[in-house]
Amino acid sequence: MESLRVTVRGVVQGVGFRPFVYRLARQHGLSGWVRNTSGSVEIEVEGDGPAVAGFMEEISSSAPPMARIEELSTRPIPRQGHTEFSIIESRPEPGEYQLVSPDIATCGACCQEVFTPGDRRHRYPFTNCTNCGPRFTIIEDIPYDRPLTTMRAFTMCPACRKEYDDPLDRRFHAQPNACPACGPSLALVSANGTPVAAAAGPAGAAARLLGEGKIVALKGLGGFQLACDATDDQAVAALRGRKHRPSKPLAVMMATLEDVGRHCLVSPDEEKLLASPECPIVLLRWRREESSVCAGVAPHLAYLGVMLPCTPLHHLLSREAGGPLVMTSGNLSEEPIAKDNDEALERLGRVADFFLLHNRDIYARYDDSVCLVEQDAPRVVRRARGYAPYPIPLPFDSRPVLACGAEEKNTFCLARDRHAFVSAHIGDVDSEETLEHFEETIGLYRRLFRIEPEVIACDLHPDYLPTRYARRLAAGGGRRLAPVQHHHAHIASCLVENAARTGADQPVIGVAFDGTGYGGDGTIWGGEFLVADLAGFRRVAHLEHVPLPGGAAAIRKPCRMALAYVHTFLGPDYPVGGLPLLGSLDTGEVVVVSRQMERGVNSPLTSSAGRLFDAVSALAGVRGEVDYEAQAAIELEMLADGGAREVPAYPFTVAEQAGCRVVKLADLVAAVVDDVKAGAGAGAVSTRFHRTVAAMIVDVCRAISRDTGIRVAALSGGVFQNRLLFRLAVDGLRQAGFEVLTHRLVPCNDGGVSLGQAAIAGFSH
Ligand code: ZN
Ligand code: ZN
Ligand code: FE
Repeated sequence: MESLRVTVRGVVQGVGFRPFVYRLARQHGLSGWVRNTSGSVEIEVEGDGPAVAGFMEEISSSAPPMARIEELSTRPIPRQGHTEFSIIESRPEPGEYQLVSPDIATCGACCQEVFTPGDRRHRYPFTNCTNCGPRFTIIEDIPYDRPLTTMRAFTMCPACRKEYDDPLDRRFHAQPNACPACGPSLALVSANGTPVAAAAGPAGAAARLLGEGKIVALKGLGGFQLACDATDDQAVAALRGRKHRPSKPLAVMMATLEDVGRHCLVSPDEEKLLASPECPIVLLRWRREESSVCAGVAPHLAYLGVMLPCTPLHHLLSREAGGPLVMTSGNLSEEPIAKDNDEALERLGRVADFFLLHNRDIYARYDDSVCLVEQDAPRVVRRARGYAPYPIPLPFDSRPVLACGAEEKNTFCLARDRHAFVSAHIGDVDSEETLEHFEETIGLYRRLFRIEPEVIACDLHPDYLPTRYARRLAAGGGRRLAPVQHHHAHIASCLVENAARTGADQPVIGVAFDGTGYGGDGTIWGGEFLVADLAGFRRVAHLEHVPLPGGAAAIRKPCRMALAYVHTFLGPDYPVGGLPLLGSLDTGEVVVVSRQMERGVNSPLTSSAGRLFDAVSALAGVRGEVDYEAQAAIELEMLADGGAREVPAYPFTVAEQAGCRVVKLADLVAAVVDDVKAGAGAGAVSTRFHRTVAAMIVDVCRAISRDTGIRVAALSGGVFQNRLLFRLAVDGLRQAGFEVLTHRLVPCNDGGVSLGQAAIAGFSH
């Protein structure tokens, strides 16, 4: 006879954990009880030694799909004399917190019910169970019980109640449990809010309207989405025009994996990711020749962002629409997505023709996540639905920290103990609306995870709105402010992700390549080699400086960047007439830009790798002006071919200046210009240029390694979203004998910066 007290921590509430334990205990013939506390699930079991051992083994090996066990501890207790196994009442503990599950895609069993005629949930768009459905988006506070969710407005009918109360039912304590008789319902209305008669039901009618080329705004899990037929050029063009999004790629939803295979090349790893409970958008190789998805969905791109349906509503829509649907966030350009019915009708009234509404409130906004598979690993590029607010484990015990993140692609991070709660993607916090969304969401996370921050971390950039917010918060509460250099934060986030393998206190060579980061020395950084750990960093090498004529104007116009490189390295009098995009620039513009640089007016110096990509894109004639971030670099990447390993790199040199290495770019710029003038196509220039940047990374890391003995390199920064460069750099570094640390859990772009800030601040303050 053995008696044990077991404590389980992690995501173990609201995921069917207690009924799972209940069933397992009964299977093994054990007695005792299971209960929720504020911070854990507690179990007492009694029975034969082997039965108890079998029970313990299965707790970890066959836990419910949404459960995430972080910690399982046991201690022997005196014999209690239980006669049966039961689920007993929850025990609240003040100050304790628990992990909150992300929203999870509809499970197979629920899907089956939705598509079974005669089932009481046939075609019911809000079907869910303990293994799937909304969680984070409906929770206002913990403990996770129906009265603290937006489901409190609905009273369960007797049939639903029976499922909810039955420990052997898949819906035992499924807080959002609902059915057509008692749960939320859909309504289809026109853009001015008038109900639309729908004999086929609102979802069926919406699918038909989509087929007719209409734009439909639908209320999804974490906010509104805009949908249209992805094979209809006119519908896609209309959506782009009305949403003010001329060319940034749009995501597409397809009903099944077989459908995805008709439009894209899908590897087994990519299939797994598409069909995972997280159900992200996956960037897939687009078979443009065979695919009926129109070119305007992702102009000039070789990849298509595809997702499978993540709720019964999306399943119904995509099956009935019968073809791929554009599914993009319900906002204008970079505003937060609309989440309430009235708000959506007001803000999206001129974008959508029809609105598919429902009456379950969304508490927290939640964008779709975006992932890709590269170097055999799934990697998140936008982390939201399905992932947040699940924490990233920290390699040390952190005091309570709030890290406010960067300005673009913002996330914030609240840390305590060994948990870093990186928020879902917030967006570009550069307006009043997004700042409000940012502040509200911080409030929600502080409440859910019971974090009262003692240290407020932020970017060094004094004018970022999140930095200003951090200063206000720190000053107001007498909290310590911890400004963190942008690229140090990038590398730190990569270190934290990999800490389980490499430890957190070994310095690495951090390669931080991105568009823009405040350097603190009056220049803008972005092509940086740091020797860094969580405690600090040294800048040991960087790309050569060039002026950024007109500041932000140069970022919008890669042509100006190209002029800056030509001006700097080939001389102010170099004739640009023979170059494709530069040659057609207005002479007035050339004169203005040249003057700005000569006089140093509004022309800060930058070592940005992103700007180097922009300049080469413009020099090669690919793109001179952008309408979304990194467009010029992305389109340049698309033209490169896979043989990049074989081509020789363009020349470059590495010089030593005052203890810091500088990658000199004059030879590179001259060679690119020569190639373009000699008629080498943009594809050839792009291929060779990618090869060159990878060679710079390997050469400089080697040199740093010779000085320091460090053999580990960490790659971070948005430039590494460039899949070709990423591949070449990782391969090159590995061949040179480096261990290479990369991002998987958080984005390499600025969406990962808050994690790095939190780790640095929590580690050393
Ligand atoms: Zn389910
Ligand atoms: Zn019901
Ligand atoms: Fe960055």
